[in-house]
Amino acid sequence: MGGRVEEIHGERVTLAAGSLYAGDLDALRGSGRPAELSDHGVEVRYDVAGVGQNLIDHCATFVTAEAAAGIEQNPDEYFEFYLRAGDLYLALLPLYSPRVRSGHSSRSRFAAGHRHRTRRRRPRSRGTVRLAGTSAAAAPLITLNFLEHPDDQRIMLDGIRLAWEVLHSPELGPLVTKVLPPVSEIIDSDEALVDWAQSTSGSGWHPVGTARMGPDTDRGAVVDQHGRLRGVDHLRVADASVMPLTVSVPTNLTCMMIGERIAEWMRTESD
Ligand SMILES: Cc1cc2nc3c(=O)[nH]c(=O)nc-3n(C[C@H](O)[C@H](O)[C@H](O)COP(=O)(O)OP(=O)(O)OC[C@H]3O[C@@H](n4cnc5c(N)ncnc54)[C@H](O)[C@@H]3O)c2cc1C
Repeated sequence: MGGRVEEIHGERVTLAAGSLYAGDLDALRGSGRPAELSDHGVEVRYDVAGVGQNLIDHCATFVTAEAAAGIEQNPDEYFEFYLRAGDLYLALLPLYSPRVRSGHSSRSRFAAGHRHRTRRRRPRSRGTVRLAGTSAAAAPLITLNFLEHPDDQRIMLDGIRLAWEVLHSPELGPLVTKVLPPVSEIIDSDEALVDWAQSTSGSGWHPVGTARMGPDTDRGAVVDQHGRLRGVDHLRVADASVMPLTVSVPTNLTCMMIGERIAEWMRTESD
């Protein structure tokens, strides 16, 4: 905690370190996938195969264009345009809006212009969080596997192509000068566009699912319907990692409700 290692004993322990750490912390306690634990010399106390699996995040891909010379850009007056079509979520953001400036997309080399963010709302690709070592200071190994699933590829390619067409449309075209890659050769090729998207996309900052909730019959489930770690007494997980699937919107509210609900059960249950 804050760089310090503290030992705390309690009758009930609740982990709420987030999806990128839940698998890690569980594993350090000796509950996880035996092969991975043994590799790091951690004694296997509980075989919980799903720990650190099922990492889901909203992959974000950007198509960016520079505003044409002479276009006035006033940071106090801007619009953001959002499109939801089935599982596709598209945002058209002016580069000078506070949302873009404050986020990771502020790295654009253009001072002014537009950015299209494409996201699949319910992605099917799954990544992992694995142990890098047994030191509490060791960051976990995160593999996102964005756009690995063909359905994700299809929907993201639709969104990127739509963004690209909008930026080249007769209406918006005269307002922008330069559209960053993907260029037309890439746009026309599924294979090249998937490669481009995988190499340029980033986290949507919504990681969930690495200690997923599920019934006894689900071998990959890490916690039961009350957030209790399978086979381990008095240990719960109460954060985004228990989500078996992601939500189609940003995740914060769902995490708050997970916390509220599990706290309610803890108040009424004896264990
Ligand atoms: C940059 C960014 C922007 C986001 N924007 C939005 C948004 O606009 N809307 C939205 O709905 N969601 C947003 N999210 C997502 C949302 O914040 C998360 O889904 C949510 O906070 C996850 O809650 P959690 O309880 O699972 O984990 P967290 O909120 O990450 O809480 C985990 C806590 O555990 C602590 N921790 C981790 N490891 C240890 C350890 N070893 N020892 C002690 N403490 C530890 C962490 O410091 C942290 O305080 C954003 C996320 C990020 C990163």
